[in-house]
Amino acid sequence: MSALPADFFGEIDPPQRLLMGPGPANVHPRVLRAMSADVLGQFDPEMTAYMNQTMALYRRVFMTENRWTFLIDGTARAGIEAALASLIEPGARVLILRAGRFGMLLSEIAERLDADIRVIDVEWGQIATLGQIEAGLAAHRPAVFAAIHGDTSTTTAQPLDGVGALCARYGALSYIDATATLGGMPVRTDEWGVDVVSGGLQKCMGGPPGCAPITISDRAAAFIFSRRKVESGIRRDDLADGARPAIRSNYFDLSMIMEYWSEKRLNHHTEATSMLYAARECARVMLQEGLDARFARHEAAGRAMVEGLRAMGLTVYGQDAYRMTNVTGVHIPDGVDGERVRRRMREEHQIEIGSAFGPLAGKIWRIGAMGYNAEPDKVRRTLAALRDVLDGA
Ligand SMILES: *Cc1c(COP(=O)(O)O)cnc(C)c1O
Repeated sequence: MSALPADFFGEIDPPQRLLMGPGPANVHPRVLRAMSADVLGQFDPEMTAYMNQTMALYRRVFMTENRWTFLIDGTARAGIEAALASLIEPGARVLILRAGRFGMLLSEIAERLDADIRVIDVEWGQIATLGQIEAGLAAHRPAVFAAIHGDTSTTTAQPLDGVGALCARYGALSYIDATATLGGMPVRTDEWGVDVVSGGLQKCMGGPPGCAPITISDRAAAFIFSRRKVESGIRRDDLADGARPAIRSNYFDLSMIMEYWSEKRLNHHTEATSMLYAARECARVMLQEGLDARFARHEAAGRAMVEGLRAMGLTVYGQDAYRMTNVTGVHIPDGVDGERVRRRMREEHQIEIGSAFGPLAGKIWRIGAMGYNAEPDKVRRTLAALRDVLDGA
C-alpha cells in the first residue's frame, strides 16, 4: 500500500472561488445550512412530511399543478435518464431536437434505450421554429418528443410556447430538460403543456449538484404506470397482450419512484435526505424571493454581463433574442489563449469561467451568473477581473 499523509489529506477546506461558469454556481448559505441538519429515517413522519412539502414547493417552481412533482436522487442527468428510460419503450420512435451538446446527450441516452431515433438538427446556437417542430412531428409521428430548454453549451434558450399542444395533437409525449434554466428563467410547465420536465439544483436553483427535481403530467404518469413490472421476476412484456414492456432500469423506474413518493411509500431507494433538505431550501429561497423578482434578477445580471463584455470590445456569441439570461457566451479574441485566461482568472482572481464543447471548443468562453451568483457586484467583479487578465494577455 502506498503511504498516505499522516492527517489523511486534511479536512475539506476549499478555496473561496466565485463560480461564474455554466454551473455549478456557489450555493446559497441557507441551503448549505439546511444540508447540515441531522438525517431522519425515510419513513419517519417528519421525513415524509418534508417530502410532501418538497412536492408542493416544486409545483410552484415548475409552475404546474402536476401531482407527480418530486426529486430524483442523482445529478440533473439522472432526471434526464429517468424521464427517457420511463417514457421510451424499446423500439419506440423518438424525435429529438438537437441544437447543442445536451441535445446530443438526449439522443445518446435514447440510443441506449433502443429507441428508433429521429432528429431535428439545428445549427448550434440556433433555435427551431414551431413550424419546424410541427413538420418533424408530422413526418415522424414519434411516441416521444424531447428537447432542451436552455442548452448551456450554446447559451441559447429554445422557445417552448405551443410545443406541448403540438405534441399532444400528434400523439407524442413530450420531455423537456430545463436543468440550466429552472430557477433562472420561467419554466412554464403547464402553460407549455409539456408532459415531463426535469432540472437540477446547481445552476439557477442556488444548490449543489446531486438532485434532479422532476414534474410529470397525469397523462405521462398513466403511461409510465402501465410499464410497471407486475411482480418480482415477471416482466410485463412476458405477459399477455396489452401489457407494455417494463422500464429497463430499476433505479430510474419512475413508476416505482412515484409509488415511493405516493401515500403508499413503497420502498424503492432511500431518499437522499441531505439533498432533499437542500432542494427544499432552494425552493423556499426562490419562492420567498418571488418568481418574477428572481427571473428579473437573472435577466438584469445577464444583461449587465452582455453589456459589460461588449463595452470591453468583446463579441458576444449567439442571438440577443434567444439568449439564456443566466449564461453568456463570448468569443475568445484572436491571438488570446483561452485556457490561459481561464487559469489566470482562477489563480489571480479566484473566479471560475467556463470553456466550451464541440464546434465551440476553443472559440468561446461561457460566463454564468446563476442563482446565488446572479448579482450585479459579482458580474462587475468578473468583468473587472477579465479586463485585468486580458490587458496583461
Ligand atoms: C448542466 C446541465 C446538465 C447536466 O447536469 P448534471 O447535473 O451535470 O448531470 C443537463 N442539461 C443541461 C441543459 C445542463 O445545462
